[in-house]
Amino acid sequence: MDFLERFIDSIGRGTHTLSVKTDEVIELTEMKVDIKAIEEEIENHKLYIGQIVYKYYTQEKGTMPTSEIKRICMEIRRLEKKLYMMKDKMVRKRGYTYCKGCGQIIKKKQNYCPKCGNRVLKY
Ligand SMILES: [Zn+2]
Repeated sequence: MDFLERFIDSIGRGTHTLSVKTDEVIELTEMKVDIKAIEEEIENHKLYIGQIVYKYYTQEKGTMPTSEIKRICMEIRRLEKKLYMMKDKMVRKRGYTYCKGCGQIIKKKQNYCPKCGNRVLKY
């Protein structure tokens, strides 16, 4: 390989590395968006349970809709499991981990969680 061929080859490899990194960034961003959406869905379910309970409290007569509350709780549990699996998949990618205190996704090089202040364990 002469100089020009080596030069072109190195540019080619450089571009490849760059596009792989860009794909990785896009994938991580998409995963973060999906995770955020599920977290919001969970919060909305919890708010709805609160509304149901409060509605029951303000009524003179009536029965606590326990079966509906149970159904929502089971849905929350299902979403939490999904969330855990998604976070686990994300942190297996290089450079990321999650806070053992609050579940926030953080970069491994951080020493403390920016959300709850928990110390980030290195492993
Ligand atoms: Zn935290």
